[in-house]
Amino acid sequence: MKIDLRSDTVSRPTPGMLEAMFSAPVGDDVFGEDPTVAALEAKTAALFGMEAGLFCPSGTMTNQIAARVHARPGEEVILHKLSHVYYYEAGGLMSNSGLSVCLLEGDRGMIIAKDVADHINPDDLHRPRTAMVEVENTMNKGGGAVYSNQELAAIGEVCRNNGLKYHLDGARIFNALAVTGQSTRECGALFDSISICLSKGLGAPVGSVLLGDHEFIRRARRVRKVFGGGMRQAGYLAAAGIYALDHHVERLKEDHRRARQLGEALQQLQWVSEVLPVDTNIVIFKVKEPLTALMVTGKLAEEGVLAIGFDRQSVRLVTHLDFTENMLDQTIDIIRQLRF
Ligand SMILES: *Cc1c(COP(=O)(O)O)cnc(C)c1O
Repeated sequence: MKIDLRSDTVSRPTPGMLEAMFSAPVGDDVFGEDPTVAALEAKTAALFGMEAGLFCPSGTMTNQIAARVHARPGEEVILHKLSHVYYYEAGGLMSNSGLSVCLLEGDRGMIIAKDVADHINPDDLHRPRTAMVEVENTMNKGGGAVYSNQELAAIGEVCRNNGLKYHLDGARIFNALAVTGQSTRECGALFDSISICLSKGLGAPVGSVLLGDHEFIRRARRVRKVFGGGMRQAGYLAAAGIYALDHHVERLKEDHRRARQLGEALQQLQWVSEVLPVDTNIVIFKVKEPLTALMVTGKLAEEGVLAIGFDRQSVRLVTHLDFTENMLDQTIDIIRQLRF
């Protein structure tokens, strides 16, 4: 049996989740008639103290819709150069919405309020108007790094003072909240819009929810239609999301502990040069020259452990719902016995 640590998207629905999906009441959601989709949207919005929600097929879509609603063609988004919205969404900010970007640097993929303030364009006809700031929490490319509440609030203040929209890519927001102890409502109060993935650590097969105020979601619903994301009897999928919110949030701490144990085991190996701090469920480690990430992932795959190369020298492992205690022990044994 393979041990799949490529991503927290690889987990399969549990029997309980499948049962919830099978028994969901559904209708045509494009006509606004699916009670389960409506229930998921309302539940998620209430959880974060936001006015409304919109169920979408993917986190890429929720992020891209947010940018489309918050900014107009020719305007600029401030974000980290390694953020998913810029780095992994196939140039969507530009092709979907005609937006310019201002790419910031920052430790482990995280930006700081001072840099945001320093990069807001002045009112000058030569410059694109700055419209929006985006942060990602946890930060995937930063090894699942978690923002401090203070920094998120400080960035929010810069946004408010300058009339900028503030969007959170919260694909793994529940992983972040499990670490900081911040409540979902406190989190919701910071942002104009939030994108939440149900298909990552929460273990649903499909889906993300976009949150914001009534007017934002009204406009977002129209953009979702334009992007081809209006779904019909989507309640079967939304039911999995409701189940995930009810049953799979508390257990994220287990994923974090297992990731930490993997990180500690890797730290002791000769052929590993560095392990990024393990804050949540993502472990990124660097291998020593002349080894490459590809050589290591190839060798791991031969032993039945799947991982992905993140760049030439870095490998990423992600723990999730289907990665058990037994698999953790096996994985640690396997990596300790690898010889190059
Ligand atoms: C997975 C992910 C998304 C959304 O990805 P989809 O595969 O489109 O659902 C967005 N942001 C981050 C940080 C992610 O990890």
